Amino acid sequence: MKKILYIEDDPVSMVLITKIVEKMGHQIIPALNSEEGIAKAYAYKPDLILMDIFLPGVDGLETTMHIRSSDKLSHIPVIAITAGQSPGDQELAMAAGCDGFLKKPVDVNRFVNYITEHLEGKVQIRNKFDPQEENIGLKKFSQRLVQRLTNKIHELSHANAELEIANRTLDKLVKDVRDNNSDLLQFNYAANQILTLSAREKLYQYLPNLICDQLNMLSAAVYVVNERHMTLDIYSHSHVKTHPDSDHISFIHPPFFDIVYYQEPYLFDKHWSQAAQKVDESMISKLTPIKEAFQAQAVYFLPIIGRPAGHNGFDCQNQDCQAFSNQDLNWWNKQIHNLDRQGLYFETQLRQVSEFYFNCCLYRLKGVLVLGIQDERLDETFRQMVQSFVRTVGLTIENIQLYDDVKDSYLQAEKQAVTDGLTGVFNYRYFQHQLEREIKRSKRHWAKASLIMLDIDFFKSYNDQNGHPAGDQVLKRLAEILNSCIRTSDILARYGGEEFSLILPETPKPSAIKLAEKIRVLIQEEIFPHEKTQPNGDLTVSLGVATFPDDAQTWDELVQKADEQLYVSKHAGRNKVSFA
Ligand code: GH3
Ligand code: MG
Ligand code: MG
Repeated sequence: MKKILYIEDDPVSMVLITKIVEKMGHQIIPALNSEEGIAKAYAYKPDLILMDIFLPGVDGLETTMHIRSSDKLSHIPVIAITAGQSPGDQELAMAAGCDGFLKKPVDVNRFVNYITEHLEGKVQIRNKFDPQEENIGLKKFSQRLVQRLTNKIHELSHANAELEIANRTLDKLVKDVRDNNSDLLQFNYAANQILTLSAREKLYQYLPNLICDQLNMLSAAVYVVNERHMTLDIYSHSHVKTHPDSDHISFIHPPFFDIVYYQEPYLFDKHWSQAAQKVDESMISKLTPIKEAFQAQAVYFLPIIGRPAGHNGFDCQNQDCQAFSNQDLNWWNKQIHNLDRQGLYFETQLRQVSEFYFNCCLYRLKGVLVLGIQDERLDETFRQMVQSFVRTVGLTIENIQLYDDVKDSYLQAEKQAVTDGLTGVFNYRYFQHQLEREIKRSKRHWAKASLIMLDIDFFKSYNDQNGHPAGDQVLKRLAEILNSCIRTSDILARYGGEEFSLILPETPKPSAIKLAEKIRVLIQEEIFPHEKTQPNGDLTVSLGVATFPDDAQTWDELVQKADEQLYVSKHAGRNKVSFA
């Protein structure tokens, strides 16, 4: 039984070779790396060494050279075993001092024979290392090292170059972030400014200055849609030389599209690219004055919109829109090149059809923000920020509108609940509520308040003679006359059919009587239609006056007292004022 030292880091190979060697009846001394291998070679004095070439740290070739140069070990045959594919491997192994060379995976028979031959001393081993051969070995060996180093250096410099590129990109990104950060702050500031505004007019008024100051634009203006004239009219501006040619952009008369569509309709059948060209030209001639007014190298048109009206469709019924929508819009867009070259830039939605008119139908276009810019073109990041800013403007306006609508309908409902539909004065419910409040208030302030009750004389007769509609007209006119002679703090209400009541805060009885008398005379003098048919030949009213706290302590008592006085006037022959 012989001792075989096997220096191998791959566990699979170790197990395999161990099995074969043990089958042959020999002993395996395993070592996982060069250091362990050399130590075990000294300790066990093996009869043969199997050497893996690729080892971690010091590799098999260096280990072999060490063995060869050692007096105690140089007599032991060393057989290299390697999976290496390089053609020079065997030569290199021999140069390093190996006595044999086997390729992995090993052929078992060949391995057994090969090992046996070496163990039996049938192969002559190089006891002493030939200095000349050693020289060649060293040379080859150092060549190999140099090659390996050169490869590493290549890899390293390649990685370095990549790192440099990455670094440069990073630098630019950092710079962009830093630049955009201040832009973002400005945009954020601007957006916050507009969010606090609650009126659309104020917002439009404020916008151009805000944009020029905060966002460093040369000039800016808000154009609003004028639906009556089908134009976009300048509403507010900053650093813009206003001029009739640039103050209004007409988008229907003559529209860019229509000029071409009606003058040369055949273009729209087959010659779309020519049609596009013509629409282009028409737009350029119309929009170039704006660029001049904005004193800028280029102008940028951004639609101020709420939410799109429909998703991808035209919900516009207009014929032109239909004709337009039948075409492929993307295709159409591609045909329009010249606008950019002229320094006219459109944000997507406007650009999509190159036609404000269609956008009015397509999107809920509220207006257009036009910016004068210094450069040929807006930086992409900046452009995105402007877009999102304008989106905020659009939504803010939409919110303002929604708020106004809600407020309006609330106020309307509130008003409806307290007014009389025919005459527009307050109704009985409101009267009652207000009188109650007024009496409480007067009590607290030791103040006087008066109430006048008024009733039309012989109104049944008027209706009978002239019909109800004519009677209604009299009621309306009467309400107008009453309204014209009271103070804003007085409350006029329709108490019942042809009865009115007047609450007069802070009014003592003499002043109330004076007002009642004034009213009586005014009505008497007013010439109502067909009043000659009245029993006394004139349309007149009777009035009753009562005052708090002189005549009553509560609101209903006051009504009762004034009503009593009204009947006193009636009984006294009508067209009279009576007071408690
Ligand atoms: P008096 O001088 O005693 O007040 O006589 P009068 O005819 O005015 O009194 P009466 O109470 O008999 O009739 C009131 C009339 O007022 C009856 C009704 O037809 C009319 N009237 C009440 N409300 C309306 C209304 O909303 N429109 C019209 N056209 N007439 C109304
Ligand atoms: Mg009556
Ligand atoms: Mg009456």
